Amino acid sequence: MDKQGLQVAIDGPASAGKSTVAKIVATRFHYIYCDTGAMYRAITWKALQAGVALDDEAAIKKLLDGIVIRFEPGKPVQKVYVDDTEVTLAIRQPDVTNAVSQVSALSAVRSELTERQRQIADAGGIVMDGRDIGSTVLPDAEVKIFMVASVDERAQRRLKDNAAKGIDTPLATLKYEIEERDRKDSTRKISPLTQADDAIRLDTTSMSIEQVADRIAEIIQEKESLEK
Ligand code: C5P
Repeated sequence: MDKQGLQVAIDGPASAGKSTVAKIVATRFHYIYCDTGAMYRAITWKALQAGVALDDEAAIKKLLDGIVIRFEPGKPVQKVYVDDTEVTLAIRQPDVTNAVSQVSALSAVRSELTERQRQIADAGGIVMDGRDIGSTVLPDAEVKIFMVASVDERAQRRLKDNAAKGIDTPLATLKYEIEERDRKDSTRKISPLTQADDAIRLDTTSMSIEQVADRIAEIIQEKESLEK
């Protein structure tokens, strides 16, 4: 099958602004946007709901096999569903945020979600963000970006995001949570957060969202013209 566009992988640590930028870029190119973090959050939400121990790999895999995680267009954010239940807001709550790194370290969960993500990306024309997209999920992606920003800047961004969602967590707590999540995501055994060898590193600490989106759009345009 002919691809409908490029595969664009955007990876990086927590709260680096990946999803905001990925959405803008996907809209500009009429590409699909896939938030893989939301998929890890969705299974974590399900495990918490079911009262399953977060290290019970077999039980969590069974839960995952029984659910459909799907996205629907929505404003200002894409809607996320687990079967017929909308979990868009629930998966951003602190209970899920603080548990997700434990669930995402489970091998059975990673291999199942990696498979689902590859299926979503198969036809191309996709911007996918996460931690291991360029390194593991889509190693042949034509565009790979690794977005970083200082932890202080990322905590500030999260504070703003949270305020818009009515979540009130102090800045110092957010900074600690971000550092903890990065530590767990970078040190896990299977596909840890890492920059792929062929990824372009963008330090966005002093860049606006629009500047980052423009830079990534330029990179995609260059690649698109090479592919033609
Ligand atoms: O991107 P977001 O912060 O929503 O991701 C939530 C968590 O999901 C990450 O902290 C990480 O544990 C996990 N994740 C992952 N691999 C991905 C995307 C997210 O392990 N590709």
